[in-house]
Amino acid sequence: MIDPKPSASHFINGAYMEDTGGAPIEVIYAATGEKIAQVHSATPAVVEAALTSARAAQPAWAAMTGTERGRILRRAADIMRDRNRELSELETYDTGKPLQETLVADATSAADALEYFGGLAGSLTGEHIPLGGDFAYTVRQPLGVCVGIGAWNYPTQISCWKGAPALACGNAMVFKPSETTPLCALKVAEILHEAGLPAGLYNVVQGYGDVGAALVGDPRVDKVSLTGSAPTGKKVYAAAAAGMKHVTMELGGKSPLVIFDDADVDNAVSGAILANFYSSGQVCSNGTRVFVQSGIKGAFLARLKERTEAAVLGDPMNEATNFGPMVTEAQLQIVEGFIAKGIEEGATLLTGGTRAGSLGWFLRPTVFADVTDGMTIAREEIFGPVMSVLDFEDEADVVARANDTELGLSAGVFTNDLTRAHRVIGALDAGSCWINTYNLAPVEVPFGGVKGSGVGRENAKVAIEHYSQVKSVYVGMSAVEAPF
Ligand code: NAD
Repeated sequence: MIDPKPSASHFINGAYMEDTGGAPIEVIYAATGEKIAQVHSATPAVVEAALTSARAAQPAWAAMTGTERGRILRRAADIMRDRNRELSELETYDTGKPLQETLVADATSAADALEYFGGLAGSLTGEHIPLGGDFAYTVRQPLGVCVGIGAWNYPTQISCWKGAPALACGNAMVFKPSETTPLCALKVAEILHEAGLPAGLYNVVQGYGDVGAALVGDPRVDKVSLTGSAPTGKKVYAAAAAGMKHVTMELGGKSPLVIFDDADVDNAVSGAILANFYSSGQVCSNGTRVFVQSGIKGAFLARLKERTEAAVLGDPMNEATNFGPMVTEAQLQIVEGFIAKGIEEGATLLTGGTRAGSLGWFLRPTVFADVTDGMTIAREEIFGPVMSVLDFEDEADVVARANDTELGLSAGVFTNDLTRAHRVIGALDAGSCWINTYNLAPVEVPFGGVKGSGVGRENAKVAIEHYSQVKSVYVGMSAVEAPF
């Protein structure tokens, strides 16, 4: 296994940087509760160094050809793939997610983003607009300095889903990882520089919310991209608005997964497991409100219970383990609070609901049946391995109930009726949807939410719109006709 300790807390202007004046941030391995590393929150001097170096480096980076920029990103993608195992072990140390997952879902997804946006960089152009004799053209320009702020569930992926399009478009990035998972983004910065990224273009500063707020409020910052909870999103969006900055907000969800009684039971159970228990339920797009049509309910619950109880909990570094701990004890306690509420408000606990093992923050995958729309577990984002199964009879009714939430990140439908699948998914208020599968998020497909779940989209060609702006130039080709 790798040694998870980083060389220093921050990565600024192409090199590791330490400043022990900032508050210590302990990194606790979720599987054992042991402290495995420590970094320090950024002091104002560190924030200043990051922003100064980003500002200084950005114009020369923007002046390079897109092909040159893209080559560096694609080289970084190759290095990440070569080091997938060590990066996956680090991701497991940072988050507690099992290596069985991190080997295929984290550095690989980050490398995909670097490769995809590296490939697009050379084709980012404006357009020519003929206007009779005159014409106009547009120039696609970078925004300048972008700040990325991460959540703790996918630290490697989030740092690249933001960094790759930002850099491809000619911006500099200052990335603040979640204080819970500070390790992975440092490795991303190291690899980008090893691949040839000039100093100052991808800086990592550690810190709590106050460091994020200092970055968002700085007038030298042109864009803020946050992945976090809906309440944090409202604060960050408001602070960014005060400076008229561009934003991307990837926030939480309480997404519906609708299973009609013509669906294949085992396939629907697989979908519900993917939609609730991957990464121990700590996934923003999870389909945590599983609406099951009455005709399939009995068979669905029986199979779901059986398969959920077959989850292999244990040492996340053992590749046979497929279900890891919660990220922190605090998060575990929050989820236990929701489980208690579910029981108190009358839901039926089908399986799980208790801690497992004597070490670390393990919680058994938990399923509640007979959940009704007004229960707390059906209304609030839990961000843990708790699935709520709700009953329904009628299509129109389930669509209305599914949409009765302020959030709108994702939605899923399982049915073998082709027209119903498209009709229902079309009627659900969500940005990222699946038919007969769940939670697949390849870089080629836009990702993001509607309503309270966010603004803007990550991934795919559409992300370019969120990391660049268009300048229009009108060209007069004949004598100017002035009125006097
Ligand atoms: P969080 O909102 O507590 O923190 C997110 C980040 O924001 C952290 O880095 C934190 O330090 C920073 N922050 C906090 N206050 C800030 C402020 N005032 N100004 C600037 N930055 C501030 O979220 P979390 O607990 O780390 O992550 C879990 C949440 O993230 C869940 O709600 C989940 O749904 C959401 N999430 C969304 C997506 C998505 O793509 N839509 C992906 C993963 C997680």
